[in-house]
Amino acid sequence: MTIGILGGGQLARMLGLAGLPLGLRFNVFDPAANVCGGAIGTHIRAGYDNSEALQAFANSVDIVTYEFENVAIHAVECVEESRVVHPNKKALFATQDRLREKELFQKLGIPTVDFVAVDSLEDVRAAGESLGYPLVLKSRSGGYDGKGQVIVRSADDVDAAWADTAGRHVIAEGFVAFDREVSMVAARRPSGETVYYDIAENAHSDGILRVSLNKPGDPAAEQARGHVQKLLEALDYYGVIALELFDVGGTLLANEYAPRVHNTGHWTIDGAVCSQFENHLRAILDWPLGDTSSKGHCAMINFIGDIPSAESCLAIPDAHYHAYDKAQRPGRKVGHITVCAPDAATLAERINRVEALLVSA
Ligand code: AMP
Repeated sequence: MTIGILGGGQLARMLGLAGLPLGLRFNVFDPAANVCGGAIGTHIRAGYDNSEALQAFANSVDIVTYEFENVAIHAVECVEESRVVHPNKKALFATQDRLREKELFQKLGIPTVDFVAVDSLEDVRAAGESLGYPLVLKSRSGGYDGKGQVIVRSADDVDAAWADTAGRHVIAEGFVAFDREVSMVAARRPSGETVYYDIAENAHSDGILRVSLNKPGDPAAEQARGHVQKLLEALDYYGVIALELFDVGGTLLANEYAPRVHNTGHWTIDGAVCSQFENHLRAILDWPLGDTSSKGHCAMINFIGDIPSAESCLAIPDAHYHAYDKAQRPGRKVGHITVCAPDAATLAERINRVEALLVSA
């Protein structure tokens, strides 16, 4: 059985690492040279607008998935002519535009951040009046890791912030003074079974995820599962999904969802019985889903820009080192480490040891 993956980054790489022991093979489609996901199978190098190459790719595999939500709808349609694609186009379409995505949350009764569409300077002023300051202006499409975001702190900042958006289509959101950020990763297969991981509590800086902690028994888990279930059912969704939420006084507000395996689920490779990567493959193939239980307390820490040596990291007990084999560049995710521990105090001590290595790297 050969799985086709649109996109050849680290998520494709980790899907491959989970799938090779299951006897699966992988063909990865990506226009870039030397993609790190190429290590797990055959790299087909062509553009997402190259219909012939996409059709040949589809014919070379049994089923197709993707590892990034900005994949062109056209590319998915082209592949769909001959092969099943999971998650489906509906899931992709809704998340490719932040306005559509937030409208979907509203329609499904999933509480979300206050938002309005803005198309002009006057709209931004009106948004400031209706939502209050600070406001966050976000690109409706193509933004990730906080890219394409501008904070408008007061009415005096409106002109400069609007100029910063440089004619991109944006939405304005109320700035949420959240207590914490969490996410829920789940998997659903066509036979109907759905499994949910423990909540991950996530810390971002400059819009980029730094740390995720698994939270077995978190009081918000049931609420998060309910929101995810609504999305999965409305979208006829199969595969892994991740929903990112703000926790405000115990109420969860949906920020965005990713129709794919997700950085806040990387802890599951070492910290859950069956990882999000293996469960994504099982889900799209309609195989029995694996146990999502946490094995203990764990923390996933991203390596952003640089990566400490494997040797230094592996001196920490129950540490699991993941290098993506990508060139080091500021702001780029080049690897991660997961540290696990039997109790919260030991985990905190191990996290400190990782942080010390990051400072010295
Ligand atoms: P996003 O690109 O929507 O995932 O945003 C990246 C990060 O920016 C989030 O994880 C939050 O830390 C922060 N952020 C995004 N939207 C808001 C908001 N409306 N209020 C406060 N912080 C936000």
